[in-house]
Amino acid sequence: MTLQLVVHGGAGLMATRNHEAVMARCREAVAAGLARLREGDSALNAVELATRVLEDDPLFNAGYGSTLNRDGQVQMDALIMDGNFRIGAVAAVSRVKNPISLARRVMEATPHHLLVAEGAERFAAEQGIPLVPPETLIAPPGAESADGDTVGAVALDALGNVAVAVSTGGVRGKLAGRVGDSPLPGAGGWADNALGAACATGLGEGIIRALLTFRAVTLLEERAPQAAAQAALAILEQKFKGEGGLILLDRRGAVGVAHNTPFMPVAWLQGDQIVAQVRQS
Ligand code: ASP
Repeated sequence: MTLQLVVHGGAGLMATRNHEAVMARCREAVAAGLARLREGDSALNAVELATRVLEDDPLFNAGYGSTLNRDGQVQMDALIMDGNFRIGAVAAVSRVKNPISLARRVMEATPHHLLVAEGAERFAAEQGIPLVPPETLIAPPGAESADGDTVGAVALDALGNVAVAVSTGGVRGKLAGRVGDSPLPGAGGWADNALGAACATGLGEGIIRALLTFRAVTLLEERAPQAAAQAALAILEQKFKGEGGLILLDRRGAVGVAHNTPFMPVAWLQGDQIVAQVRQS
């Protein structure tokens, strides 16, 4: 049975970032999730774990080190979804260290798909997820992420299930309360066991209009992942004037990567090696 785990570290400029450090951390995130998959664990657990590794690193715009909104606050969004259409998401949360795990809890412990802001934080506390002072999520100057370093992962497990996870601090200087594509199913992420899974990054407003990940996964009905990712990205760019990228995985573990930003770090399993790139070759 083919296993696969793909992570990305955000579509953007990466002007000030250490490319080697970013690729090394993306490879580590894949290694962590893959170790679980090899033990027979689910795609859902693998994408959650890989995303947590990246949330905890201030190099990335997710969890600790998220970019700040116009009020100088961290406000984060996250989504997790499996190929049976189970969905959990949170938006505009400021006091949770790992929003992806809160999203998972929304999926598993509520009849809802998306909780926001104070209600989401209250639910976290009820679930025993510690609330942290919002300032503790702000990385010291110089250590914080730059624009567009959102994180995400897609995986395929030994039972043939796919899953996607997305986590972000959103776009720098956003209005308080702004929510992007990341926590919205079909925009920031989509998974369907019959086809595959996709995870998007970039300017959320365009990705929402394009329903980028639903579109990309649906294109797997007729195309291989690389062609499907490129076709979805072309529609984002041409029809919706959008900017960003996506990772796409089919049910056989084949991978597609496309972006129209200068960089989008990605790591995945190729043969028995974990490979990483900062831009599409
Ligand atoms: N898509 C995210 C948002 O618009 C940002 C990103 O991917 O860099 O909130």
